[in-house]
Amino acid sequence: MRVAVLKERAELERRVALVPESAGKLVKAGADVIVEQGAGQAAGFPDSHYTAAGATVAPSSSQALTGAHVVLTVQPPLPAQIAELPPGAVLISLVPAATASEALPKLAARKITVLALERVPRITRAQSMDVLSSQATVTGYKAVLVGAGAMPRLMPMMTTAAGSLTPARALIIGAGVAGLQAIATSRRLGAVVSAFDVRSAVKEQVQSLGASFVDVGVTAEGSGGYAREQTDDEQARIQQALAHHIKDMDLVISTAAIPGKPAPVLITDAMVASMKPGSVIVDVAADTGGNCALTTPGEDVITANGVRIIGPLNLPATMPLHASQMFSRNVLTLLQYLMKDGQVVIDLGDEITGPMCVAHAGQVRS
Ligand code: NAD
Repeated sequence: MRVAVLKERAELERRVALVPESAGKLVKAGADVIVEQGAGQAAGFPDSHYTAAGATVAPSSSQALTGAHVVLTVQPPLPAQIAELPPGAVLISLVPAATASEALPKLAARKITVLALERVPRITRAQSMDVLSSQATVTGYKAVLVGAGAMPRLMPMMTTAAGSLTPARALIIGAGVAGLQAIATSRRLGAVVSAFDVRSAVKEQVQSLGASFVDVGVTAEGSGGYAREQTDDEQARIQQALAHHIKDMDLVISTAAIPGKPAPVLITDAMVASMKPGSVIVDVAADTGGNCALTTPGEDVITANGVRIIGPLNLPATMPLHASQMFSRNVLTLLQYLMKDGQVVIDLGDEITGPMCVAHAGQVRS
């Protein structure tokens, strides 16, 4: 089996789908691993590490793709690269909603089987293949560092000869994978942390990390451990409860998301206007529109009252070494699961492969 690893072409993307350690494991399992020159460079993995692991480095994407049975990327290949994919190959990649409608018909027309990594089902058996969780861990961690770096104050309480400093107050909105990591990271940096979520099940997790749970009086549990979309009335009640709390915060990390839908807008203009000068909002939901009405995705905005609203895009790509290492382990586990007698076998009736498969045998699958 020939596995090709491509260099990422998308803007801001610095991760690589397979790191040398995982490449070595695939080689030991009998696969030929061909890595496009420079594929791991931006993530801290030079070509020489892949060669040392037993992989072959190809000077171009077309050479890496020649005869490939499996193609690994973080973001979907660009249209020019799709035309180079060998018909019948299996592409394993993220397929973000923003690019899916354009890329999927092209991939299907090329008879590529596409396994979308966002769609790994959230079942215990598939936990080690769950790219959304591993990358959200990086997002939650980095969001706090971005916020800490943007604040004009320190995070922890300090008693010094030059006087005492009060600890920063941080609010984490949404306590999923990224939110819980943001709670843990801001606690480690010394902030007094509160958090809320519309899934009441997370209250205990929030408290066990040493944060207080803000009860907004709305529960919106959906299926598969996710939140469901909230009604206008529920959203208004959340905003009302939040308005009392947010005005005292120095740092807000917002991570609230609903799968397949735009992020709920929870922080209104009026709430931002009530915040103190120098306070910072890091809106991790910027990738899907943002939780704050004033967020501009990819930009850093300072309001008239001195509140800084940061809408970072693709935070995992800003910590590409560990993000790639975790992504790669997820992909390796998936490949090992799919391999039978040294070949990847696509069983559409399988509880993991079936939901992940978004294109097969010339058809786009929903
Ligand atoms: P996500 O990124 O879809 O959403 C982030 C958080 O936003 C969620 O906790 C959601 O409840 C919350 N949210 C949505 N609307 C909100 C609102 N109006 N106000 C406040 N919060 C709001 O979620 P995620 O982090 O990818 O995962 C959600 C959950 O899925 C996890 O906490 C976990 O329970 C479960 N999960 C299970 C597995 C597994 O079993 N393999 C793996 C990962 C996650």
